[in-house]
Amino acid sequence: MSKVYDVVILGAGPAGLAAGLYAGRSRLSTLIIEKGQDGGQIAITDEIENYPGQIVEGESGPSLIARMTKQAERFGVERVSDTIKEVQLEGDVKVLKSEKGEYQGKNVIIATGAYARPIGCKGEADFIGKGVSYCATCDANFFEDFEVYVVGGGDSAVEEAMYLSKFARKVTIIHRRDELRAAKSIQEKAFANPKIEFFWDSVVEEIYGEDILQGMIVKNVKTGETRKVEADPEDGMFGLFGFIGTIPNSKLFEGIIDMDERGYIKGDEDMHTNVPGVYVAGDVRIKSLRQVVTAAADGAIAATQVERSLSNYF
Ligand code: NAP
Repeated sequence: MSKVYDVVILGAGPAGLAAGLYAGRSRLSTLIIEKGQDGGQIAITDEIENYPGQIVEGESGPSLIARMTKQAERFGVERVSDTIKEVQLEGDVKVLKSEKGEYQGKNVIIATGAYARPIGCKGEADFIGKGVSYCATCDANFFEDFEVYVVGGGDSAVEEAMYLSKFARKVTIIHRRDELRAAKSIQEKAFANPKIEFFWDSVVEEIYGEDILQGMIVKNVKTGETRKVEADPEDGMFGLFGFIGTIPNSKLFEGIIDMDERGYIKGDEDMHTNVPGVYVAGDVRIKSLRQVVTAAADGAIAATQVERSLSNYF
């Protein structure tokens, strides 16, 4: 029989790593399971400037996350790379199954995060990696001196547009309304950037090209007018980046854990879900502010609750 951990944490983003740090420091036997690279969404974020204490100019998400991983490891937290396919969460010992085997824990913290929402235009799936991307940090350098379009009006879209402007010749933000959702301080930088332009009240309806992205149809949602955007003939292609929010990684828990209609998991203020011994932390949770600082706080609270329940403080 496999080891029964005090707590198994699913996901090694800021929420999972903070939970690991707090659980490890409390001397709980702790396992973090992560299917990809550590960091979740922040692993693909170019610059983090609002995590308290982080004042190193231009420090990237991956570098912050590398420090978080190291810090959790220092307290004896174990980590495996695996993809959980099935969970049994009722009872005193929770079982998490993958193709490789199974893991057991007295408690589980769900910190599985969220992933980029597709733009939703016709042809999108055909051009992923051939002009369409959801990660500026990963793909910006492919568009050195090309034209790039960014869909969205939130913090991510505007910040990533600024990052892309370091590489691209021109960046056009396509937003479905006539004002941005992004924080004012971020907006100000974008408006002052001579490489950034805007298509207001607009959505991308369709994209096309021969093998690579060469054209798109953009619709003005107020007037109903459509315009064709074509690649500069000398470039032969352009980039289209989608930053229109996220979808929670919660499918595994459907029908087991209470969630809202979009799949975000319900947790109380101490991160308990409806299932005893199962907690939720970070972007996968229903919450009003999805930031590194709130994810880390969720993780800390969840791990502290686990520690208290095992010590019979309640
Ligand atoms: P977001 O704040 O939810 O913004 C999504 C944007 O995409 C909105 O402008 C929205 O338009 C637009 N949108 C949504 N669905 C769309 C659709 N189907 N078609 C076209 N446009 C659509 O998402 P986010 O920017 O990814 O940010 C997520 C969270 O992370 C937020 O809490 C944000 O504050 C935080 N974040 C913070 C920072 C930072 O502080 N440095 C950086 C990145 C992210 P509407 O405005 O019309 O709704």
